[in-house]
Amino acid sequence: MTRFAPSPTGYLHLGHAYAAEQAFSYAQERGGTCVLRIEDIDHTRCKPEYTKAIYEDLDWLGFDWPLPARVQSQHLMDYQKVIDQLNDMGLLYRCFKTRKELPDGVYRGTPDPDEARRVSDHEAFAWRLSIAEVEAHLGETDLPFTDEILARKDIGTSYHVACCHDDALQSITHVVRGMDIAPLTGFQNLLQRLMGWPQPEYFHHELLTNAQGEKLAKRNHDTTIRSLRDQGFTPAQVLDMARP
Ligand code: GLU
Repeated sequence: MTRFAPSPTGYLHLGHAYAAEQAFSYAQERGGTCVLRIEDIDHTRCKPEYTKAIYEDLDWLGFDWPLPARVQSQHLMDYQKVIDQLNDMGLLYRCFKTRKELPDGVYRGTPDPDEARRVSDHEAFAWRLSIAEVEAHLGETDLPFTDEILARKDIGTSYHVACCHDDALQSITHVVRGMDIAPLTGFQNLLQRLMGWPQPEYFHHELLTNAQGEKLAKRNHDTTIRSLRDQGFTPAQVLDMARP
């Protein structure tokens, strides 16, 4: 079981077509299934119109997935339970700091000395995973991780929690995704260990670049699937263009 897990922050472009092809054909070639997951926990960036466009564009390209797709914004309670469990294990602490107050690089924090007052004043906070507590819990030292945010101030959860929870829930055995996410896999493996979730195998594919060798981004409007469709290209031609 694998998955394609786009975030609806814009229209899908050629880079997504390539990523989708990688995930769907990986499953197909092995007699497996590729599910579609909409990673839309970030209500500050995701829009329902882009979710609708994901279904339309993938369908137009000829991909098939079991219905219904999992839409993460409809399952925020599931992710809250993960936060609660890690909290019960004593592995999280509240972080009131803003980005500007944090040092560059690895961050290791401790509970805020003024925590009780700040909580009663309803100051916004994030939950961070304490690597020091994780090391004590696992009986290990020198884990090469920063104290990642597991519940953001503004959305109450995080990509890591939602993604790993759903990979476990959806019995994902093989994760096929872009190389840009490869550096996050080690941390996700740690989260899986803490939660007792199985660890899928990971394949990180290369990223499509434009003629200048830059990564394709959502602002490259000329390469959105819908604009190519409107220009008269066929799905086969678009998939053909979506190759490194
Ligand atoms: N939602 C992520 C993205 O659009 C993909 C995350 C993943 O595959 O783990 O980049």
